[in-house]
Amino acid sequence: MLTATEIRRQFLDFFRSKGHDIVPSAPIVVKNDPTLLFTNAGMNQFKDYFLGNREPEHTRIADTQKCLRVSGKHNDLEEVGVDTYHHTMFEMLGNWSFGDYFKAEAIAWSWELLTEVYGIPKDKLYVTVFGGDSAEDLPMDQEAYDLWKRHVSEDRILLGSKKDNFWEMGDTGPCGPCSEIHVDCRTDEEKAQQPGRDLVNADHPQVIEIWNNVFMQFNRQKDGTLVPLPAKHVDTGMGFERLVRVLQNKQSNYDTDVFTGTIGIIEKIVGKPYGYSDRKQDIAFRVLADHIRAIGFTIADGQLPSNTGAGYVIRRILRRAVRYYYSYLGYKQPLLFQLMPALAKQFEDVFPELHKQADLVSRVVKEEEEAFLRTLDKGLRKIDDIIADTRSRDTITIDGKAAFELYDTYGFPIDLTRLIGSEQGLQVDEDAFAAEMQQQKARSRAATALDTQDWVVLREGNASVFVGYDHHEADASIM
Ligand code: ATP
Ligand code: MG
Ligand code: MG
Ligand code: MG
Repeated sequence: MLTATEIRRQFLDFFRSKGHDIVPSAPIVVKNDPTLLFTNAGMNQFKDYFLGNREPEHTRIADTQKCLRVSGKHNDLEEVGVDTYHHTMFEMLGNWSFGDYFKAEAIAWSWELLTEVYGIPKDKLYVTVFGGDSAEDLPMDQEAYDLWKRHVSEDRILLGSKKDNFWEMGDTGPCGPCSEIHVDCRTDEEKAQQPGRDLVNADHPQVIEIWNNVFMQFNRQKDGTLVPLPAKHVDTGMGFERLVRVLQNKQSNYDTDVFTGTIGIIEKIVGKPYGYSDRKQDIAFRVLADHIRAIGFTIADGQLPSNTGAGYVIRRILRRAVRYYYSYLGYKQPLLFQLMPALAKQFEDVFPELHKQADLVSRVVKEEEEAFLRTLDKGLRKIDDIIADTRSRDTITIDGKAAFELYDTYGFPIDLTRLIGSEQGLQVDEDAFAAEMQQQKARSRAATALDTQDWVVLREGNASVFVGYDHHEADASIM
């Protein structure tokens, strides 16, 4: 069986052999892009090449990129741990062509790598092609369809919707159809019961998307029209942990050697086994094994947990993890920081920054855990009261003020309250919560307005109004 390390190396070696320059991952924390807090796809660091703002040194590049999908356009947080293939932090393997090769090579190489180098049986694979969108006057990607026909029988080629098979950078800018590869990991028995093609893009835990090939060929104008790009580009992304799971023949990403080391350590710490017991406990194991990666890599890239912006995203993930071990693994002391040394070791040769910062990261994580554990017990009792009160009022909606008190006094990020509520079939009055949050922000602005130096302060009558770069942070803090 190939190890994760070998699988990663083979990907990079393969694209090196096809003339690609192998580059390091960009940091997972994005420092100077007001539209993005964290890297959420391999292409982020190459955005300026696609926009034509910068010339690439090489027209063929490949890498493994640290990604985080817990905010903004891609937010998988609620799936993580509940399913077995969405992570917060994951590695996205990618290859790019900047005005160099296009669909024919990209398709042929992805097929060659999966079926010949990795040896995935062809009858496990499905591919999707953009099927067109009449409302938007977008044509079907006939070119990709015909190219796939060279490799795959037509009953394994599916036409996809704009949502799954057309990629756009934003309201304007480069865009184009994409073609995705899905693997059917079900048993033969299960396969006999239902055709795999019915399960593609249907959130089936054993029929999973592994690789997206985006073909940037249009530029979306301000008036919405598409004009062909003078130079066409390829942008691909393959989920590394999913690939490893397929190649190691596992039912879950967490059963691969990417995660089993960490899970084994958690088992020892809490004295409970993974995978044999109740569902909640297993989810807790997966959440911890997943979240420690997000926490570790973001802190190592310079983002400390805090109360705003990117820092608050980390804090939310950390507190979600703490609540899982506290409530479902019965562990009441700092746990996450104990997972750091092994994680740093595991990635020493791939992402050395974690190893270099391991002591600092452990210390920061431990302090965060201690701080939250100090109020968690009281907060959990408080939320029990709130839930009882909600029920007694014959509603399923948790009062926004109560949710705000949990946030403000007990340090419960809103998505933690949401999560605990949803476990009890309740939801949060989001508007009322947001209103409370706004009021608090207004109060703290008034209190600090005149001390700040590098923020822009506008005066309107007696009130101070901020404009400037805390806008996005304010949005992020209530995500
Ligand atoms: P999905 O439909 O499974 O949510 P996606 O279509 O959102 O995936 P893309 O944006 O196409 O994903 O990203 C490219 C690849 O990255 C996917 O094909 C998948 O293998 C992987 N990937 C995406 N999101 C995650 C995640 N949260 N955890 C692990 N791998 C992921
Ligand atoms: Mg997704
Ligand atoms: Mg998808
Ligand atoms: Mg996709």
